[in-house]
Amino acid sequence: MSEPLQPPRGTKDLIGAEARAHRAIAATLADVCERYGAEPIETPIFEQLGVFARTLGDSSDVVAKEMYVFEDRGGDKMALRPEGTAGVARAFIHASLFDTLPRAFYYFGAMFRYERPQKGRQRQFHQAGVEFLGTTGALADAEAIACAARFLRHAGITAPLTLEINTLGTPPERLAYRAALVAYFTAHRDALSEDSLRRLESNPLRILDSKDAGDKALVCGAPAFADFLTAESAQYFRDVLACLNDSGALGTIELRHNPHLVRGLDYYNHTAFEFTTTALGAQATVLAGGRYDGLLASMGGKDAPGVGWAAGIERLALLQPESAAARPCLALCALDEVAASHVLKLAEQLRGLTAKPVQTLRGAKLGKLLEKASKRGADAAFILGSTEAAAGTVTVKDLRSGDQVSGDSAALNDWAAAFLTR
Ligand code: ATP
Ligand code: MG
Repeated sequence: MSEPLQPPRGTKDLIGAEARAHRAIAATLADVCERYGAEPIETPIFEQLGVFARTLGDSSDVVAKEMYVFEDRGGDKMALRPEGTAGVARAFIHASLFDTLPRAFYYFGAMFRYERPQKGRQRQFHQAGVEFLGTTGALADAEAIACAARFLRHAGITAPLTLEINTLGTPPERLAYRAALVAYFTAHRDALSEDSLRRLESNPLRILDSKDAGDKALVCGAPAFADFLTAESAQYFRDVLACLNDSGALGTIELRHNPHLVRGLDYYNHTAFEFTTTALGAQATVLAGGRYDGLLASMGGKDAPGVGWAAGIERLALLQPESAAARPCLALCALDEVAASHVLKLAEQLRGLTAKPVQTLRGAKLGKLLEKASKRGADAAFILGSTEAAAGTVTVKDLRSGDQVSGDSAALNDWAAAFLTR
């Protein structure tokens, strides 16, 4: 016999309740984002490599180490999308939507990164995200963050969350800061991790984002970006904090300025933020985003600002309380082939009356069918044999109390309708 085929490493099948949990989060995203005037968008799961390579930056970890790149049969270089923003921006430019700004778009879907799989970190994972295009200023940033906080609240996340926030200033300010960081980390290069030594050459700001314990200790003593900000950028940041505090949008979420917060991707400026939790070990960030004013222009579009975020669905699902076992349903048990066709008819009538699950069961003895019904969480079982079918009657057993009643199917239809709405 051949060996059973394995799923690709770092992927996960979502079966039943898990798939339902993902879909519920997608529905929450839509519900919340529509309240902010955002519209749904769906872009391809693969794009030309340049869509990501050019926007995320060759030196970003995602492009350098994590992207799934392949050549298609026509010889074109393609990549599975590692994130959503670049694809949305590409689609926006392609559809020439600049005259319609401001617009906002939300998406939900699979993303792909070649990473070392662990709890809350997969190679195929899912993100829910939103991009607010064509708006700028502290209020726009605060509103995008308010949308994120509401999404997390409506998704039923009760674990304590912290909003870590920082400013990345403007490109010239970052350049000056970069020089100071290179000087600092070069002086401590012996203590840097291998990854960070590479980042020292390619993108020293990324060292601030390192997960390595030794790097983290060094980062504590690194120069602060605040010392390199212009008065204007510093004011912008203070305004974002004030808007967030004044609006009450964060609810119980703690707001914390983390001066070492940087985003993993290259295209951010001014506000950068992450919602973190202590409940997931090393994979602390559940939602991350920021402002990316240069992105659209860098992709060949007009110069238009943007701010957005993306949440990791696997991590959110881990934070959601375990859902109750099976969903309550009604089971219709057919004791023989004659009864089976009556059961189908009755089931179809009931499905017209209720949205709750109505399950048909057949092909076993009564005891076994009732056992299956209970396992599936049925509150009650309708029992039909050929005698009942001939007489036009049905027996109903309340599986919680054990009570059993018989009657004609019209009377039982009414009973079922009442039962299903209680
Ligand atoms: P991390 O620092 O954890 O690697 P990141 O900075 O690479 O995260 P982003 O690119 O900002 O992550 O993606 C936004 C969110 O998507 C993350 O906060 C996280 O919740 C989720 N995410 C990112 N990579 C993965 C992954 N490999 N598996 C599961 N979720 C992920
Ligand atoms: Mg990452």
